[in-house]
Amino acid sequence: MLARFWGVRGSSATPLNSEEIRNRIAAVIHRVKPLDLVSSRARNQFLSALPEFLFSSVGGNTSCIEVRLMDNCVIILDCGTGLREFEKAVRKRKETILEYHIFLSHFHYDHLSGLPYFTALFNPRCRITFYSPEDQLENYIDDFMRKPYHPVGLDAFAATVHFQKIPAEGVDIHGARIKAMERFHPDKTYAYRIQEGHRSLVYSTDTELRPEDFDKSPENIHFFQGTDMLVLDSQYTLGEAINKYSWGHSSYSMAVDFATAFMVKRLFLFHHEPLYSDKDLLGMERSAKWYYRRMTGGKKSQLKIELAKEGHEIEIS
Ligand SMILES: [Zn+2]
Ligand SMILES: [Zn+2]
Repeated sequence: MLARFWGVRGSSATPLNSEEIRNRIAAVIHRVKPLDLVSSRARNQFLSALPEFLFSSVGGNTSCIEVRLMDNCVIILDCGTGLREFEKAVRKRKETILEYHIFLSHFHYDHLSGLPYFTALFNPRCRITFYSPEDQLENYIDDFMRKPYHPVGLDAFAATVHFQKIPAEGVDIHGARIKAMERFHPDKTYAYRIQEGHRSLVYSTDTELRPEDFDKSPENIHFFQGTDMLVLDSQYTLGEAINKYSWGHSSYSMAVDFATAFMVKRLFLFHHEPLYSDKDLLGMERSAKWYYRRMTGGKKSQLKIELAKEGHEIEIS
């Protein structure tokens, strides 16, 4: 199983602005010395020694993750603005995809705003299935895709589109089992667990962790224990999580606590705060790692903590 992040930002899309780009160039000019420019080797060395926040971006698109099963079947987790980046990448690879399985965590705009521009919807050869445990799934999409919010509605789709409510036992897609679990968030949200053979991925965005989520109940153990890749909301610092209690998001330290409690192998901090710069977010990643090391007393680390970054591809083996 393979996962690619195409949108990792929370709440609203956050493109790099001119001021930020200018500041980065100024910081690079400030660092460079004549010897760094004498040869292409020296220039490459200089560039590769720059801090990450100067030469790359965590990404500004909202939630969208592509998951590929072993047979290359495509599962999409949420349709934020990252969906467009996904389609761009598909075009670049010259790949033809005719079957999509789209799981929606919930219906807040940042998780749907890429959908009106999803060109597969207008391809008569495509078969697209939307999934959610919500009875009103089709109505919610219908409401979102209508005038005056968008010029065309569901009836304009040329693709074959289905809406499937996920039952308690989950759904099977090409040999993988996908289950849903409700999480705390305003208007509620669902986490998804994708299990294919012995590989597992859990996507739990827009999740405010509550004390009962840490219970070692059979349901929680079945859903989270030993997950290979956990993508978890960690929009806030602990101070923000306290000040914004019941806003529906978790802090990075709560995410680390949760991943540790359920012996997760890789934790991806996700749904990044739109007010934070790349430098802030990379600092948050460092803090999360420091917190984990402190908590485990510096023992050999079992949990790998990473910041979800747009364009990154993760092999789950
Ligand atoms: Zn969100
Ligand atoms: Zn939300």
